[in-house]
Amino acid sequence: MTRLLDVRDLRVEFRTRDGVAEAVGGVSYGVDAGRTLAVLGESGSGKSVTAQAVMGILDSPPAFVTGGQVLFRGRDLLTMSPRERRSVRGAAMAMIFQDALSALNPVLTVGAQLAEMYEVHRGMSRKDARARAVELMDRVRIPAAKARVNDYPHQFSGGMRQRIMIAMAIALEPELIIADEPTTALDVTVQAQVMDLLDELRREYAMGLILITHDLGVVADVADEIAVMYAGRIVETAPVRELYRRPAHPYTRGLLDSIPRVDHKGKELYAIKGLPPSLLTVPTGCPFHPRCPRAQDICRTERPPLYEVPDATDTVAPGRASACHFWKDELDA
Ligand code: SF4
Ligand code: MG
Repeated sequence: MTRLLDVRDLRVEFRTRDGVAEAVGGVSYGVDAGRTLAVLGESGSGKSVTAQAVMGILDSPPAFVTGGQVLFRGRDLLTMSPRERRSVRGAAMAMIFQDALSALNPVLTVGAQLAEMYEVHRGMSRKDARARAVELMDRVRIPAAKARVNDYPHQFSGGMRQRIMIAMAIALEPELIIADEPTTALDVTVQAQVMDLLDELRREYAMGLILITHDLGVVADVADEIAVMYAGRIVETAPVRELYRRPAHPYTRGLLDSIPRVDHKGKELYAIKGLPPSLLTVPTGCPFHPRCPRAQDICRTERPPLYEVPDATDTVAPGRASACHFWKDELDA
C-alpha cells in the first residue's frame, strides 16, 4: 500500500555566516491516512524544519533542501513542477502553527478569512462562502458562531483562535495535516480540548496527522507512532505503547522520566543533564553522548545507525528502530 506521506532521507542545510549547519541530517518518517505520527524533540532538534521542508515553506536562503524525497501518495513533491506542487500543497496538505494570532490576518474578520478559502479555491459566491464559514466555525465548536463570524482574531481567546486555525486547515478537506506545537501556547485544560478536537477531526475525515511537539505528555492518547528527534536526526521510532513501555534509546528514556506523574508526587523530577547541541557544532559519534548516562568510548567516535529493534515477542516490528549502540541494554533496563 502506498503511504499517504513518506519522507525519505530528507536533508536540510542552513548556510550561515558562521558555517554550514546540517539542520536535518537524513530524516525518514511517514504517516498513513487516518493515522497520527507524533514527532517529538526539544526545540532546535529539527522537527519544525523537517515539517517546513515537507510543506515547502522553508525560508530559503539560508535553508536549503539538499537531498531526499517527500513522497505524497507516491509522488515526490521535491521533483514536481512548481505548479503541480502548489496544487497538492494548497488543497491536500494543511499546516497548523503554535501562534494562531500571527498566522491569522489581524485586519480581516475570521469569517472573511474562512470564506476566502472557499471563494479562492472552490469558486463559491461570497454569500455561499460566508455560510460555509459559519458551518465550519460551528464544526470546531466556536460558541455562537453566527454572531461571531464578523469578529476579528484578537477578539477571540487563545483556545478559540486555535480552533479557527483548525477550521482554516480543514476547510478544503485536506488528506494530511501537520500541526506544529498546536497547543503549546494554551493552558492545560484548553490544550486537552483542542487536542481532542484535532483527534476527532482526524478520525472523521480519515486524515493523516503529524503532530509536532516537545511534550511527550500531549501525545500519549492521540498518537499511533512516535518519531523522536535529536540534533537534526531521528533517534527512535516506535508505536506509541511500545515507546512508553520499552524505550530503546537513552534520550527517550530521559524524556519519559521527566514527565510529571501523579504517583511520583513529592519526588524530584528527573531532568536530562545539559543542553541540546547547536547544529553548527554537533558532537562527534553519537550526538547525544555528552548528555548520555550510558555513554561508552565508542559513542564518542562512532555514530550509531538506526538499528531495527524487535518487539516484546522478539519479532522485528516494522517502524521500531533506535540510533543507539546499546539499544539492547536500554530495552532490558
Ligand atoms: Fe548514549 Fe552511546 Fe547510545 Fe548515544 S550511542 S545514546 S551515547 S549509549
Ligand atoms: Mg519548532
